Amino acid sequence: VEVKLGANISLLSDFELVEKSGADHIGLYRTEFPFLARERFPSEEEQVTLYRRILEAANGKEVTIRTLDIGGDKFLSYLDYPREDNPYLGWRSIRVSLELRNVFRTQIRAILRASALGPLRILSPMISSVKEIKDILKILQEEKMHLQEKGISFDPTIKIGILLEVPAAVIILEKLIKHVDFISVGTNDLVQFVLAVDRNNQKVAPLYNPLHPAVISTIADVVSVCKKMKKPVVVCGEAAANPKCAYLYLGMGVDQMSMNAPSVPIIKQLIRHVTQVDAKEALRSVLAMDDAEEIEVFVDTIISTGSKEVQ
Ligand code: PEP
Ligand code: MG
Repeated sequence: VEVKLGANISLLSDFELVEKSGADHIGLYRTEFPFLARERFPSEEEQVTLYRRILEAANGKEVTIRTLDIGGDKFLSYLDYPREDNPYLGWRSIRVSLELRNVFRTQIRAILRASALGPLRILSPMISSVKEIKDILKILQEEKMHLQEKGISFDPTIKIGILLEVPAAVIILEKLIKHVDFISVGTNDLVQFVLAVDRNNQKVAPLYNPLHPAVISTIADVVSVCKKMKKPVVVCGEAAANPKCAYLYLGMGVDQMSMNAPSVPIIKQLIRHVTQVDAKEALRSVLAMDDAEEIEVFVDTIISTGSKEVQ
């Protein structure tokens, strides 16, 4: 069973770690960091140059580039934000992009232009409705036409996917999935929203657990919808870097995961030392368990015994 392990990156300098990690693709390039580092929105030319550099550094590996994901805990100094009691539930991510249409169009154009250079996929964060996808696809189509009219090259078959982070999107996944080429599960936000636990609040940190049975069955449902609809799915975010979670994702039949680069060799080592048949059986038992603690002990025992057998 081949499982492709990708690295999540934010900056060009992250490629040093990617090289060492043995990741075979860039599962998530978070574009907001270059926006955060400036005092104004980067121009189309600046973005094209940057995205091309990323593709050059990726050296033929596929790059999944995420459109701007600001708000929540990342604010641009040059953009006015409303005062919000719950910024994670507020004006953030795709909601900002679909309101600041020119900023979004500029980014889409820059991504399209860079796509002429190497394998690139577009990922849109925080999607919660079909309308949002339709709006994005319309903009993408219009920008492709503008580039075509000007004779500027781009990849006309560029794939577009959504980052599944909002429980509403999980519930209506069968409706959403028809419009896109692939699904990426954004576990960092999905765990926060499924459990109603702020991902950055130390006081409730012990409750933020990707092994909570609600999270596991949510992700298992997502994977089975993707399989039924024959659309590729990648589990992204830090839960994929947790060996116990990665083992259960393997049991769900996930064949692509993406995580911080230093965790790639750890998960690679795990996957080489276990079988998918065993992981499927373990998942079946886990789905019948009541709480995270029980699941944690059970999976931990299986994977540590499995590794000892190999040694
Ligand atoms: C996620 O939410 O899982 C994710 C990949 O995005 P970020 O961590 O940037 O919110
Ligand atoms: Mg997120």
